[in-house]
Amino acid sequence: MRLFALARRLRARPVALEPAQSVSADIQEVALRNRGSLQLRHVDAGSCNGCELELTSMFSPVYDVERFGIRLEASPRHADGLIVTGPVTRNMAAPLRKTLDATPRPCVVVALGDCARDCGVFRSAYGVEGAVSDVVPVDIEIPGCPPDPATIIRALRSLAGT
Ligand code: SF4
Repeated sequence: MRLFALARRLRARPVALEPAQSVSADIQEVALRNRGSLQLRHVDAGSCNGCELELTSMFSPVYDVERFGIRLEASPRHADGLIVTGPVTRNMAAPLRKTLDATPRPCVVVALGDCARDCGVFRSAYGVEGAVSDVVPVDIEIPGCPPDPATIIRALRSLAGT
């Protein structure tokens, strides 16, 4: 019974997919290449870990995002793109750029959560370099503090075309 209620909730929610610009050629190429799957390397650039809790919940039996072909990869070299959480701290700016450099092209960059989009509650903090788009090009932004798993799944499914 709970599963049906969850399915209804997932269908009813609006898609929280906010392209940072019009849908990029990279997104189209990745969707075409993958034919319905999406492998992402997660980078915590300075999050409070709230976004990670929601990200991790996607893989629980309740949401089971892997049934949609969406997985996290340990290495950027095997990934279709990056999913980045938190504002980018000064110490994480260079590692984030290097991780993107190690990701095969074409690839997508997802900014997950309000901090990743515009630094959120950490705006103007002394250790913050900027939003994710200040450091690397961003294709998709998912708003929320933090975004809930169903919202993240809907956005990633739209990206994966599943
Ligand atoms: S968006 Fe909210 S939950 Fe996510 S890292 Fe920022 S403060 Fe934490």
